[in-house]
Amino acid sequence: MWGFFESRPESDPSVLTFLDFNENLETNVPGVYVCGDITGYPLLKISINQAHDLVMRLAGRKPPPSEDVFDLVIVGAGAAGLSAAKTAKEQGLSHVLLEGATVAATVANFHKGKILFAEPEGEPVRGPLWFEECTREEILEKWRRDLESAGLNIETGVKVDHVGRGADGVFTVRGKNGRTFRGMRVILAVGRQGDPRKLGAPGEDGGHVIYMLYDPGKYRNQNIVVVGAGDQAAESVLALCDNNRVIMAVRGPELARPRKRNIQKLHGKAARGEIQILFETQIKEIKPGTVVLTSPEGERETPCDQVIVNAGSLPPYPFLKKTGVRMADAWTLRRKAFFAVFISFIIGMYMYKAFGQGPLLAALGGAGAHASPTLDFAVRHWYGVLYTSLVLGFGAWILSRPRNRHYRLHNYVRWRTISCMFFQTVFLFALPLIPARYLGGKAAMLITVWPLSLMPAKFVHQAAVLGAARPEIVFYAIFTALLAFVGMPLFVSFHGKRYCSWICGCGALAETFGEPWRRLAPKGFLNRRRERIIYIVLAASVFMSGVLVLREVVFSKESAASISFWYNLIVYTLFSGIVGVGMYPFLGSRMWCRYLCPLAAYMNLLGAVWSRYRISSNDRCIDCAQCNRYCEMGIDIKGFALQQKPLSVRNTPCIGCGECIAVCPMNVLKFGDWTEKDLRELQSEKT
Ligand SMILES: Cc1cc2nc3c(=O)[nH]c(=O)nc-3n(C[C@H](O)[C@H](O)[C@H](O)COP(=O)(O)OP(=O)(O)OC[C@H]3O[C@@H](n4cnc5c(N)ncnc54)[C@H](O)[C@@H]3O)c2cc1C
Ligand code: SF4
Ligand code: SF4
Repeated sequence: MWGFFESRPESDPSVLTFLDFNENLETNVPGVYVCGDITGYPLLKISINQAHDLVMRLAGRKPPPSEDVFDLVIVGAGAAGLSAAKTAKEQGLSHVLLEGATVAATVANFHKGKILFAEPEGEPVRGPLWFEECTREEILEKWRRDLESAGLNIETGVKVDHVGRGADGVFTVRGKNGRTFRGMRVILAVGRQGDPRKLGAPGEDGGHVIYMLYDPGKYRNQNIVVVGAGDQAAESVLALCDNNRVIMAVRGPELARPRKRNIQKLHGKAARGEIQILFETQIKEIKPGTVVLTSPEGERETPCDQVIVNAGSLPPYPFLKKTGVRMADAWTLRRKAFFAVFISFIIGMYMYKAFGQGPLLAALGGAGAHASPTLDFAVRHWYGVLYTSLVLGFGAWILSRPRNRHYRLHNYVRWRTISCMFFQTVFLFALPLIPARYLGGKAAMLITVWPLSLMPAKFVHQAAVLGAARPEIVFYAIFTALLAFVGMPLFVSFHGKRYCSWICGCGALAETFGEPWRRLAPKGFLNRRRERIIYIVLAASVFMSGVLVLREVVFSKESAASISFWYNLIVYTLFSGIVGVGMYPFLGSRMWCRYLCPLAAYMNLLGAVWSRYRISSNDRCIDCAQCNRYCEMGIDIKGFALQQKPLSVRNTPCIGCGECIAVCPMNVLKFGDWTEKDLRELQSEKT
C-alpha cells in the first residue's frame, strides 16, 4: 500500500529522488551534512556557495576532544568539497578532504574546451574558492595552482564506503582501502555523478564503449552509435556528426528530454540524412566492429567502431543509504505510525462535522456555555475556528519565513498567500456568521462554486417550491447558477485554475497548512494518468445535483435523502476528509484537488478549451527538477521547460500557484498569455 503512489525514478525521467536534509543541510543523521550537486542544484556556483555557508555555520561548534579527531571530514573533492575545505582552512578548522578518484573529477571529465557558465546570474561567488565563467582547462589550471598554495589536507584514492558514529559522538569515516579518519562532523559533497548507467548488453566491456565524450575531435570517419535520449546524448551526436556516421539509438518513441534547440538541430540533420535517429531501439549485443540493434521491427546488425552511452548516471544513493542518510519521503516506521493516528483523527473529525452535533458537541457546548463567551463561540464554531486558524497561522509563517536556497518568498507567492488568508477569513468564516436576515447566512456561497458545493442545486429546488416567499433563496439560486455557468468560464478563460490556489477554501488550507508537505505530491506518468478518476467524481456530482433539483418530482424525499447521505459520506467525509486533509503529511496537500474535486474536473474541461494564461520557459533550464519537486499537482514542468513548450490548464491540471516559478534557480519560468503560434503547435500535437 505504501508504494502505490511512489514515484519510480528508474523508469520515468520526470521523477527525481532527493535526500532528506533540513534547511541547514543537516541530514537525518545528526552531524552528517550534505552540500553541492547531491542537494539537487547542479550548478558550480551554488555548490561552492552552499559549502562555504555551511562551514561558516559550523565554525565555532564543539571542538574535537583529541588531535587525531578532525573538526570536519569532507567526502568528495569537487567544487563543493574544495570550497568547504578552503573555507575550513580559512576559519582554522582542522579537516581532511577525502576523494575517491582525482580532485575535481567531474569537471575534469567534461569535454575539451567546454565553457563553464557561471549561473545563476547576479549571484556572487562566496568564499575563497575561485570561480567565474571560463573554459574547463582554465578552471582546472586555476584550481590546481590555488590548491598548491592553500595547504589543504587532501587524501585522494580514498573511496569512502562507511560512515559510523561511536559512543563518544565522534564519527569514523572509512575508505574502501581500509583507511579510517575520525571527525566531529562529516560533510558529504559526493555529487550526483555516481556511476554511469550501463547497458547491460553482452560485449559492453570489450573496449568499444565509453560513457562520456571527452574529445569529439579524436573521432573521424567512424561509425558511431550514441545511446540515450537526453541533452548529453544530443550534444554528443551534434559534436560528432560532421566528421562521422552517427546513429542515435533512443529507447522511447520520441525525443522528449533534450533542449528545444538541440531537438530542432537533430531533426534538421536527420531530415538531411546527416544522422539517423532510431526510436524504440536498444543495443542487444556489441561485437568487434558491429552492434546488434533491436526494435519492434526486429533485429539488425550495423557497423560500429564506437558506442557512446549517454543514458545518465546512477547517483551514489546506495552509499548514502549505507551511511544512514535517508531519502526524502521514505516510509519509515514512525511515519507509518503517524499516518495511522493522523488518519483516525481526520476521519473522526469529518464524521463528526458531517453527521451532526451529537453528544460530544452537546458536552463541549455545555462546557463552553458556562465558561466564557469567547470559549463558547470557539466551541460552537470550532470547526471554522480551527480551519481558519490553520490558514492564518501557517499563512503568517510563510510570509515571515527566513529566506534560503530552498525558500525564496516570490512576490506572486506572497500575494497568493495573502489572498488565501483573506478569502478564508472573510468569505468562509466571518461573513457566514452575520445573521440570516442581513445577508442570508449563506455568504460562503458568494465564492463557493457548483459542483464543489451542491447547495446551488438545493437553492434551485427551494426557489421552485417556495418562490417569492423566500426572496433571498431566489437570489442565491440565480447568483450561484450564474457563478457556475457564466462566472467560472469567464474566470477560467483569464486565469485558468487560479481559483484553486487563490480563492478556494480547500486550496487555502493546502497552500498554507499544506506548505511543509508540498514536495510529497505523487509524481510521474502513472500518478498523472490516475487523475482521470476525477471525471467519475464530476459525473457523480452532476447526478447528485439532478437528484437534489428533482427531489419530490422524480425522486421521492426518502430516496433523495438516502442518496444524499451516501454521497456526503463518500465524497465529502471519506474522500475530502481522508484524502483531502488526512494525506497532507504523506502525499502532499492536493490529493483531493488532483483526484477527487468535482470543481477541479469542471475547470479542467473549461480550461482545456479556453484558458489564456500559461507558463512559458526561456532556454536556460538546467534539468535540476526543483520545479517538479515542489509542484503539488505532480506536473512534469521541467519536461516542458527543457523543450520551451508552454504549459497551463490547456495541457495540464496547473492551478497557477506559481511555486515552480519561485523555486527555479535559473529564472526559467514565467507567467504570460498563449500566443497564436503556441496554440497552433498545441493543436497539431493534440491531433
Ligand atoms: C555535462 C555537465 C555540464 C555542466 N556544465 C555546467 C556549467 O556550465 N556551469 C555550472 O555551473 N555547472 C555545470 N555543471 C554542474 C557542475 O558540474 C556541478 O554542479 C558541480 O560539479 C557540483 O559539484 P559537487 O562538488 O557537488 O560534485 P562533483 O563535482 O560531482 O564532485 C563530487 C566528487 O566526489 C567524489 N566522490 C563521490 N563519491 C565519493 C566517495 N564515496 N568517496 C570519495 N569521493 C567521492 C567524486 O569523485 C567527485 O570528485 C555541469 C555538469 C555536467 C554533468
Ligand atoms: S505547474 Fe507551477 S504554477 Fe502550475 S501547479 Fe505546478 S507549481 Fe503551481
Ligand atoms: S525549469 Fe528551472 S527548476 Fe525546473 S528543471 Fe529547469 S532549471 Fe530546474
